[in-house]
Amino acid sequence: MPRETVAERRLRALAVIERLDAAMPEAKIELDFTTPLELLVAVILSAQTTDKRVNLVTPALFRDFRSAADYANTTPKVLEGYLKTVGLFRNKSKALVKLGHALLEHHAGQVPTSRAALAELPGVGNKTAGVVTIHLDGEKAFPVDTHILRLSKRLGFSSSPKPDVVEADLRRLLPDTHWFKAHQLIIWHGRRVCDAQFPGCHRCVIAVQCPRRGVPKKNMRPKK
Ligand code: SF4
Repeated sequence: MPRETVAERRLRALAVIERLDAAMPEAKIELDFTTPLELLVAVILSAQTTDKRVNLVTPALFRDFRSAADYANTTPKVLEGYLKTVGLFRNKSKALVKLGHALLEHHAGQVPTSRAALAELPGVGNKTAGVVTIHLDGEKAFPVDTHILRLSKRLGFSSSPKPDVVEADLRRLLPDTHWFKAHQLIIWHGRRVCDAQFPGCHRCVIAVQCPRRGVPKKNMRPKK
């Protein structure tokens, strides 16, 4: 088969996003939040934990901790009581106390909207900062989580295992007007159809655009 040109890959990427959008127009972040601080805390808690599990603990947490000062004025031990069903809850509890202090010291208790400022906060990595900034209309970004990493490889959009490189590849592939929605759509497709171990190629709306469709399941498992 002839090698795909960059222009052809761009058109295929657009077709993928259009098809996913037609199939799942409701795709959006699945964490529950009502304020920038709740969003930031929920995204921090979602590292290595499902959104569903985070949504189970945040109602009580957000009821009792409403401001940066509330987090700064508590202890990790108290937060652990709220977060014990969430993965890495001890580290996350410590990070939330430090986060409260950092927001008070550097941002007057408010959540900054730029990705760079967010990424400097305790417990916040580049991906978390990206997710928060795009939901606060801070700046355009294409944060890469585990689903986007896996699907980018399967779809032939990026061959890198590094999220930052994959994000750069995706940003080159799609116009920035599509980044926000494409981020949501690819995550939804990864969660619902293109499973890490058992991709549902037989019911996949982008199978025609996917070079990995029909590959035996054992070959789809991530390489160790
Ligand atoms: S065809 Fe299969 S591997 Fe490709 S995106 Fe769809 S589910 Fe994933």
